[in-house]
Amino acid sequence: MDDVSWSDEELKACVEAYVEMQRNERTGQLIVKKQYYKKLVEMFGRSEQAFESRMQNISYVLSLMGRGWMTGLKPAKNIEPLVAARVEQLLEQTSGQKVVPVAAFEIAVREATEQKDLPKPSGNPRPKRRRISVAQLQRDPSVKAWVLQQAAGTCESCEKPAPFQGADGLPYLELHYVQGLADGGADAVSNAVALCPNCHREIHYGANAHAVEAWLYDTVQRLERD
Ligand SMILES: [Zn+2]
Ligand SMILES: [Zn+2]
Repeated sequence: MDDVSWSDEELKACVEAYVEMQRNERTGQLIVKKQYYKKLVEMFGRSEQAFESRMQNISYVLSLMGRGWMTGLKPAKNIEPLVAARVEQLLEQTSGQKVVPVAAFEIAVREATEQKDLPKPSGNPRPKRRRISVAQLQRDPSVKAWVLQQAAGTCESCEKPAPFQGADGLPYLELHYVQGLADGGADAVSNAVALCPNCHREIHYGANAHAVEAWLYDTVQRLERD
């Protein structure tokens, strides 16, 4: 990536180009990425390679948001959390959908997960609330990272390996707060488990949700009922 930091105009133009290419890909139209890059080079300088790599960053942000990314643009992780947050915002603006921002948090989680001897986070019994277009409880990425490390790729409910690898190459598990944050639960490892998507859906929507929850309290030693 180029050293000079990217202006908002550049990011905006990249996101717009990406969205247009993606739309064309979805509708089965022929896309020549090089033509898009050439246009961007004319507008902003830099190299075509720099824009290609930026497009791969956009794929990465989309993958963190759980959204589809272009097949020819493999997600690339080398993006600053703040820039990722801005890209996420621009993607949201282009799609006209209001979503809870996740990119900066998920990148922070991944960075913390790679840390050896990540200290056990003390957590926060009352996570801070911040005003955004939609309400989101601010979570500590290290809580999720620590729980994922403990789970080591295995669902803490069904005790089976993560069903697939994420686009980031990590075993795909989701964090679940046994007592929901919105219901006053703590953002703490004593209130969080790593679940496979099936078990996560089940604990939210399944007829046996309460039994699953009771089983988790019995078997996952670090869990504490408040
Ligand atoms: Zn499971
Ligand atoms: Zn959950």
